Amino acid sequence: MSTQGTTTRPARHWLRRVSILGWPLVIALLVAAPDLGLSLYWQRIVMLVAIMGITTSGLNLSFGLAGELALGQAAVFASGAYTTAYLSTHGHTDLVLCLVASAVVAVVVGLIAGGPGLRLGGFTLAMASFFLVLLIPSVIELFGETLGGPDGLSGIPLPSVFGTDLGTDGLYAAIVVVGGIWLFLFRNIVKSRQGRILVTMRESPVLAASCGAHPFQMKLRSYAIAGIPAGLGGSLFVFLNAFVSPTSFGFDLVILLLAMSVIGGSQSVLGPVVGAFLLTYLPERVSVFQDYTLVAYGAMLVLIGVLLPRGAVGLLSGLWKRAVASRRSSSADEANPGALTLPPIDGRELHLRDVAVSFGGVRALDGVSFSARPGEITALIGPNGSGKTTLLNVVSGYLRRDSGGDITLDGKAIHGLRPDRIRRMGVGRTFQTPLIPRDLTVRETLMVGAYGDSRSGFFSAALRLPGYLKAERREREAADELVEAFGLAGRADMPAKDLSLGTRRIVELARALMGRPQVVLLDEIASGLDRDEVQELVEALHLLKRSGATVVLVEHNFSLVRAVADTVVCLAGGRLLAQGTPDEIASHPDVLEKYLGAGAGISGTDLGAHLDPADETSPVRTGPAQQGGAS
Ligand code: ADP
Ligand code: MG
Repeated sequence: MSTQGTTTRPARHWLRRVSILGWPLVIALLVAAPDLGLSLYWQRIVMLVAIMGITTSGLNLSFGLAGELALGQAAVFASGAYTTAYLSTHGHTDLVLCLVASAVVAVVVGLIAGGPGLRLGGFTLAMASFFLVLLIPSVIELFGETLGGPDGLSGIPLPSVFGTDLGTDGLYAAIVVVGGIWLFLFRNIVKSRQGRILVTMRESPVLAASCGAHPFQMKLRSYAIAGIPAGLGGSLFVFLNAFVSPTSFGFDLVILLLAMSVIGGSQSVLGPVVGAFLLTYLPERVSVFQDYTLVAYGAMLVLIGVLLPRGAVGLLSGLWKRAVASRRSSSADEANPGALTLPPIDGRELHLRDVAVSFGGVRALDGVSFSARPGEITALIGPNGSGKTTLLNVVSGYLRRDSGGDITLDGKAIHGLRPDRIRRMGVGRTFQTPLIPRDLTVRETLMVGAYGDSRSGFFSAALRLPGYLKAERREREAADELVEAFGLAGRADMPAKDLSLGTRRIVELARALMGRPQVVLLDEIASGLDRDEVQELVEALHLLKRSGATVVLVEHNFSLVRAVADTVVCLAGGRLLAQGTPDEIASHPDVLEKYLGAGAGISGTDLGAHLDPADETSPVRTGPAQQGGAS
């Protein structure tokens, strides 16, 4: 155990407590501010920033964290606004009722608009949700006089709470409190296992699935939740303006919200507030903003997007994190790799019988059968394009096998199950391309690996319910255990993406072990490593083997295979070419001929020296079934 970890954790806990106390303090101060002399002008700025800030926070959730650009937030905001406008002009001025109704309508509108687009994702979602914004005036016209048509609804009364009219002072306090509470819940989501899995999904949906998440459901949920603040914001906006019309929700608003998110920092908690402040305050002060609103926002979007991709808050917090991390790592004590142990793993026998996978006319796998046993490392070798990655993908559920043939774990069939199910049944894996999300520390990266083992969701994360706290504690303990086991203790709080390639590969291995898998599939985990890093990896693999796991290792470097493997399976053109001990394979005539090309001999023991190791142009990366990068 690193002594460092034990001394800094209480301090960090303490800091976190204090920073949580900051929330009610700031909210209380803002509520009291008018009595302390805050001018009407500034009160209006505070209210607008709160309203636009929470609306933008929804964009941060779906776009900044989950990585799906949905431009429909303006339409969702409009649906919340019109719900409140309708209710309050029909005698229902209760603030809580209006807020809840607006949020519900907003979520429903958001889901109707986003659901179909989300399935396809990317450009389709952006376009589909944008068209929704263009439809706003026509939809409002459909409702006729009920919603006031093109002229809008005016004379909206101030809200009441439990029958008491709030008045303008009360409205100010209500907006600050609602905005503050929502932002606190939003913060709780961002800084939770849900926030981490969203960031992981942004990096790669396939990776998120390998951690036990269901990417589409996650996207749909985060998209639905993003509707809540838009609905709340729309409702408060109507009370503040006492007027609503279709012209408030056009293209300008789409760009404004996007600009607030990007300029403030689309991946941060306070970014929306900072962005909302800058774009509410600047236009009042700088006349160029008033005269050329769209041009100014567009130019700022482009500039910030290029120069400060993580926005104002991202820039500051990045600098701060780096300073803290460098102070920590310089005093970090590295663990001694010789003394490492992993808790015992109850390995399962993985058996493939006659498994075939075709892509159109190409047979990537053609009737492959073999077994990988617990406590052993089974190396999978073969030329590029021989079907190794395809084999790992079909075992872990990203590809469907052709009919006939089966894949079993200790006799139990796993073929045909979804990737997140297979992961939960005890199959962990790494990917050929290194996949480490930005914004996560080493410990957090590992914690994501155990995502599928707990059921606690967004709601329990937002409210910090016991189920969430338990899951978080369990993930942290499991991550700390592996951090120790792999000698990463000194680097646990560093951004994982900043580590050397070799250490990142170890982190990926450790993440794959977080779900306590009985079968571990490793795809070219040593490619690109230097000699020392390969040595570290060899030790890690021995550790894994001693613990009892079933390991399948795709590898080109035959000296590494020799050093760790018990059995070698050689594929060529999707077929099983040979199977045996490393020594048997090294002298197998078919392997020599097919793997190395006719006439070549094994020079040294490094078969990999004869091959193109990275294979960056392989169609594996571009094929449709590989969307999201299961390579
Ligand atoms: P390896 O990992 O051994 O280098 P792969 O399993 O990646 O090989 O690829 C095996 C074969 O399947 C190759 O011929 C490749 O072109 C093909 N293939 C792999 N994935 C796809 C895909 N998504 N679409 C079409 N062909 C694919
Ligand atoms: Mg491959």
